[in-house]
Amino acid sequence: MIADDLLDIDSYRVHPEAHIRINRDVCRPCPHKACTYSCPASCYQWDEKKQKIDFAYEPCLECGTCLLVCDAGALEWNYPRGGFGVRFRLT
Ligand code: SF4
Repeated sequence: MIADDLLDIDSYRVHPEAHIRINRDVCRPCPHKACTYSCPASCYQWDEKKQKIDFAYEPCLECGTCLLVCDAGALEWNYPRGGFGVRFRLT
């Protein structure tokens, strides 16, 4: 089984409030935008036309990678409230 298959069987209980907030004014001039290629859930996408980061917290796997690679301090990162977020399922 490959990683994508494993991710497909996870489920989510999404809280209406995002557990990660981003400061797009800080993101815009970032030279590497590492979050866009390091997030395993593809939560971050750079919109070239609008010159802004599109962010979706709902599929977040709570791995913390984005917090580590963001060296500009653009993220306010928290785990989801208790009982919410990803539910990993093992086969
Ligand atoms: Fe993506 Fe992991 Fe950051 Fe969630 S914590 S947005 S899965 S890099």
